[in-house]
Amino acid sequence: MTDRADRLVAELDQIGDGSGADVMLVTSLQNVRYLTGYTGSNGAALIGPETRVFFTDFRYQEQSAVEVDPTFQRRIERADLLEGLADVLPAGQPRLAFEDGAMTVRTAARLRELLDDRVELVAAGDPVERLRAIKEPGELDKIRAATELADEAVREIMEHGLAGRTERDVADALEAGMRRRGAQGLSFDSIVASGPHGALPHATPREVQIERGQLVVIDWGAELDGYCSDCTRTFASGDLADSEEIVYDVVLEAQLAGLRAVAPGVSGRDADAAARAVIDAAGHADHFGHGLGHGVGIEVHEAPRLSQRSDSTIEQGNVVTVEPGVYVPGAFGIRIEDLVYVTSEGPEILTSVPKQLITVG
Ligand code: ZN
Ligand code: ZN
Repeated sequence: MTDRADRLVAELDQIGDGSGADVMLVTSLQNVRYLTGYTGSNGAALIGPETRVFFTDFRYQEQSAVEVDPTFQRRIERADLLEGLADVLPAGQPRLAFEDGAMTVRTAARLRELLDDRVELVAAGDPVERLRAIKEPGELDKIRAATELADEAVREIMEHGLAGRTERDVADALEAGMRRRGAQGLSFDSIVASGPHGALPHATPREVQIERGQLVVIDWGAELDGYCSDCTRTFASGDLADSEEIVYDVVLEAQLAGLRAVAPGVSGRDADAAARAVIDAAGHADHFGHGLGHGVGIEVHEAPRLSQRSDSTIEQGNVVTVEPGVYVPGAFGIRIEDLVYVTSEGPEILTSVPKQLITVG
């Protein structure tokens, strides 16, 4: 874990549009966790070439003693997390980088208040998110394990069938199945959406029976050892209309095109465009309203982004989703989502559930 802080230090002189900084204050909890190991709900870290300080309050004294990387000096503050910040800053006129994207206006104002004029504040953007986007082997193992148990849980659902059960029942059974297999939490609230309800990309499961012969979108993920998985499959709960089967093939073709486009050096926009072109050509340009995918790790949505507005570039070591969809309002939705690890050769698919249209009666 020490080398994560070292990697951040290596970026410090380029931070803030190249102006550079001497130390960085990290306040986003996921980033604090990534850099220090701390999993509590109140903490911050100050990192520089000669500086490793972790801040928390008295409630987390014992937890932080166990969790926080021992190269960090721990400061237990009584009230305000950052009240001792000035004491541990380097001498002279340090340039202090902060996470301007993650910090509230109130915290930023408080920061200015706590520090005298000798300290120059540098808006750092999101350098820790960029580090997190490249997964270490140990992180990949955890994401792989979370994906495996989530896949097993959905296989159990497939054995028991969908038609006649409510969306809520299926979601509950799926979530219980993941917990039984060791998940410590869910990446997000599971989506089970049948028929026209599937046209809402973020549908909440209803107390409504799944009818025979519908498309059923299931999007689910497990959290294991602090890492998330994310996958979507769309099943048939019986015979479908030909028109629905045709659109399923379009989405599958788009998903395969998206997978082929995912490689180191490719922009998030170009990967998105590769899948989107297939959907556009089939006449569904207006029915794919979200991006192709996103990074997955400590958070289920993190860098890089694969979308029309993305400024990310895909890199070796990324773990990203590839998840095109077609949503026809009032009729049905179809999404196919794999989680993949980006290698120099292209994507390694972590998800193991088949992608061809499967009837789960
Ligand atoms: Zn998903
Ligand atoms: Zn996703």
